[in-house]
Amino acid sequence: MEFGFYMPTRVKTGKNCVLKNSDDFKIGTKALIVTGKSSAVNGALDDVLNVLNKNNTEFVIFDKVMSNPTVECVYEGAEVAVEEEVDFVIAIGGGSPMDAAKAVALLAVSDLDRIQLFGSDIGHRALPMIHIPTTAGTGSEVTPYSILTNHEKQTKKSIASDCLFPQYAFLDAKYMQSISHDVMVNTAIDALSHSVEGMLSVKANIMSDIVAAEAIRLISSQFKNLKEGIADKEILLYAAMLGGVVISQTKTTAVHAMGYPLTYFKNIDHGRANGLLLGEFMKYTEKYEPLRVKKILSVMGIENTAEFKNIFIELLGKRDNFSVDELEMYSYISEDTGGVKNSIHRPNVDEILEIYTKSLID
Ligand code: NAP
Ligand code: ZN
Repeated sequence: MEFGFYMPTRVKTGKNCVLKNSDDFKIGTKALIVTGKSSAVNGALDDVLNVLNKNNTEFVIFDKVMSNPTVECVYEGAEVAVEEEVDFVIAIGGGSPMDAAKAVALLAVSDLDRIQLFGSDIGHRALPMIHIPTTAGTGSEVTPYSILTNHEKQTKKSIASDCLFPQYAFLDAKYMQSISHDVMVNTAIDALSHSVEGMLSVKANIMSDIVAAEAIRLISSQFKNLKEGIADKEILLYAAMLGGVVISQTKTTAVHAMGYPLTYFKNIDHGRANGLLLGEFMKYTEKYEPLRVKKILSVMGIENTAEFKNIFIELLGKRDNFSVDELEMYSYISEDTGGVKNSIHRPNVDEILEIYTKSLID
């Protein structure tokens, strides 16, 4: 048996975990708080400011992060970090502010241009980070990835380095009380997708499988409640973090790679994009790796991939409109990505187009 496992983020969970662990916020003398327009208006920013004031720690707020953050946004945030001479970063929000915060923490101490930023040598240094997720989806609080909208490549691209693991993650479901139904559903599907893809990754190992299976079991237990708008947010927040632990070992697969163009060109939410494709990707993989797929289905307590696909059709409602030309273009964009190469059975460009077509047009 040969495998490695590395996840250095210290995770603390539970009601008021930010307020109860104020000493953990003493990792620097001046903080840059990175957040979005509404992600902080749920009590999370108030709690953080309480803690920083109690600790006599200075801070600056950068609240310009949009959904699917752009390269331009993170350079702007890094400029603020440098000008204000901050020495740590606090991210508050969903995956978008958390991913932006990671790139800001990196660019604040490394002079990287836009090509270097997406290259393989981004160095090993970033400002220390504390992450407070306010959605239950990406698990970015425990991953070494920052995913940014890259207009040059006309898609989303990820930066990966162990220095992007946050030092701390605080998970308190009280910040998710006013989250919309759509965000709740889409983010839960994203979290499920991470764990399912983790089990369909060439890098899956015995430990990542254990964590993935537990996350899949927990999220599946909430499908009915999600539809009815009464999902247990604490369970989903925990399961999403587990999904992050999974992809921090396995990375994501063709589903995420194929979902990025849907988000880039059609502005389809990240989790929804994955949910639209996941069912057909499972059917495709089943032809070559039936035992892997069976294992996932059995954790979910379902019989077959048709039933699996149906879960997402029911949760996501009416599909978005696509033309064949659009899907052909997305297939060429996805073909050579790390996600496609990371799939236990790697689809070629024709198979990618077939998965897109069966998911989005047929
Ligand atoms: P998001 O873009 O962070 O947030 C979605 C929406 O929810 C935004 O409108 C946000 O508002 C709002 N929102 C967030 N928290 C809220 C709360 N507690 N109450 C009310 N509204 C709230 O969505 P996400 O799905 O969490 O993150 C998606 C991003 O993460 C994508 O860019 C994706 O590529 C990335 N991702 C990263 C990883 C990783 O490992 N790094 C993994 C998967 C996905 P505001 O924008 O106004 O704040
Ligand atoms: Zn994702």
